[in-house]
Amino acid sequence: MSIVNEVQERSDYKCELCNSTDNLKVYEIQPPINRGAYGNINTCSTCLEQIEDPEKMDANHWHCLNDSMWSEHDAVKVMAWRMLARQKSQDMLDMIYLEDEAQKWAEATGEGDDDAVKIVHKDSNGVTLQAGDSVVLIKDLPVKGSSMIAKRGTAVRRISLDHENAEYIEGKVDGQQIVIITKYVKKT
Ligand SMILES: [Zn+2]
Repeated sequence: MSIVNEVQERSDYKCELCNSTDNLKVYEIQPPINRGAYGNINTCSTCLEQIEDPEKMDANHWHCLNDSMWSEHDAVKVMAWRMLARQKSQDMLDMIYLEDEAQKWAEATGEGDDDAVKIVHKDSNGVTLQAGDSVVLIKDLPVKGSSMIAKRGTAVRRISLDHENAEYIEGKVDGQQIVIITKYVKKT
């Protein structure tokens, strides 16, 4: 049986990522690992277009990975992992399980390099913020749980980053540690 037939039968003639039956194609996962059907998936044109062109990524389409990430086929899981990494879906990346060998394969294209999956904090100008940076508030901000207002123009030195949320940093204003939204600050 040819690789194409084998993959088609394995997949029940459906896209192995989203279950669609439209415009299916047996696709060899890059870079090729030359292990026949093992290295291929059956995929629809919608999935394939987005796999090949990150600019076309439509996050809504990839809810399908909730199911396909549990596939019994490594090729499917590798592709699911890469798409999750590309979308920085850390919750799901923590859940998907790949054997060491498949994990290396998944990472072979550089998708999900540390930088790509890491949460990046940016100020109001899109400048990347790092722990220890100093920022200035660009807006009067009420401080949660107090009557204090942190005034526009206030300098906040030695910020720390919220590692769960790219929109939040923390820093001291008037001796009080407060949470600040990144879009209201400017790096100095
Ligand atoms: Zn598909």
